[in-house]
Amino acid sequence: MFNIWPGRQEKAPKAETKPSSSKKKGPSQSVSSSEGQDAATEAVAKILRTFGRHSFDLDKGDAETFEKEFERWARHVLLGTTTSEDPNAQEDYADGRRNWGGLNQFVNRHRQQEKNYVMKGFHALRDVIWTFTSTVSQAFIQDQESDSHMQAHIRRLKTAVASKSPDDLKREVLATAEELGKLVEDRSLAERLRVEKLGEKLKQVEEELGQTREQMALDGLTQLYNRAALDQHLEQVTALSILSDSPCCFMMVDIDHFKRVNDSYGHRAGDTVICEIAKRTVLSFPRKTDFVARYGGEEFAVVVQGVGYEAARTLGERLLTAVRQTLVKHEDLELSVTISIGLAEYLTGESPANWIERADQALYQAKHGGRNQLCAAGDPLPELVEA
Ligand code: GH3
Ligand code: MG
Ligand code: MG
Repeated sequence: MFNIWPGRQEKAPKAETKPSSSKKKGPSQSVSSSEGQDAATEAVAKILRTFGRHSFDLDKGDAETFEKEFERWARHVLLGTTTSEDPNAQEDYADGRRNWGGLNQFVNRHRQQEKNYVMKGFHALRDVIWTFTSTVSQAFIQDQESDSHMQAHIRRLKTAVASKSPDDLKREVLATAEELGKLVEDRSLAERLRVEKLGEKLKQVEEELGQTREQMALDGLTQLYNRAALDQHLEQVTALSILSDSPCCFMMVDIDHFKRVNDSYGHRAGDTVICEIAKRTVLSFPRKTDFVARYGGEEFAVVVQGVGYEAARTLGERLLTAVRQTLVKHEDLELSVTISIGLAEYLTGESPANWIERADQALYQAKHGGRNQLCAAGDPLPELVEA
């Protein structure tokens, strides 16, 4: 975070400053100079606020903090209030003084940080494109080399066929077969290495994408990611999974008999329950790569990367337990609810819609098995329990 540097404090030229010329001036000119200063001060404050409003997350702080900082400077310029984060900081800006030097340093420093951040992102992107391009061209060159090697074998084989000598033919067939086997082996090894290399780079990009998630739309009630953000995340996860063999699981979480909460205690009590369960869910999935979204109504979606079916089941069970132990406070009420979870591990190549559908079917099983439990896609059907 920034410090507020003790820049030079300068006296703001006052409206009633005497004109430098000895020529006598009428009151209208004095007023117009004061108006000019006011307009300039307001313009500076406006510019600062515009900068603040369009701040974005940087390595050294988030957009919200920067916006506040710009706002403090705008207020300082207009009113002479403190530029420090501490509202009680003792700074003497009496007599119209403003910390113009400090402001100059603050804006310069911030701009420099923005520039560094953008350049870093640009270099990272260029790096990824370069790796991609060189990997593809390398693959192309290697394939060309091995193809010409193979061509030579085929030419020799043709000559051997033409010579009609069984020994020559046998020798060349065996050599070509051996070469062909080696070539297939080499190619699959090279291909695997290339995919691994590309996968590593994409993992980096994936992490960077994780950071930009912050800018995605949030659900108004719970402040979780909304459905659109979830769709985008699933697109990325399924696309990247082609290049990585690490497992990934999706959970559909649904509050049991939630309609009864609304019907018995009112919609606002229902909203409080939704928020509390959202909070529990986020607390149960705290890893950087975990993704929790409000799917709609009283349903939440959880995506856990690098976690297979068994481990995901354990994590889901942990959430079930946490919810069972939660007492939701609303006004003078204390409510307890349960949830049901449908779990599905990603199957390579399937679409996000299909993945969700399988988790949804598992959730349906959990509901029909008596609620307050987790079922996974592929589990044997539980016995039907009446609600
Ligand atoms: P089940 O155990 O089968 O899931 O039953 P349920 O009652 O939880 O499910 P149902 O789909 O019958 O009812 C969900 C209710 O959630 C209906 C809808 O009015 C309510 N709901 C949806 N969104 C909100 C919301 O944002 N706030 C509140 N308070 N209620 C909501
Ligand atoms: Mg529902
Ligand atoms: Mg429900």
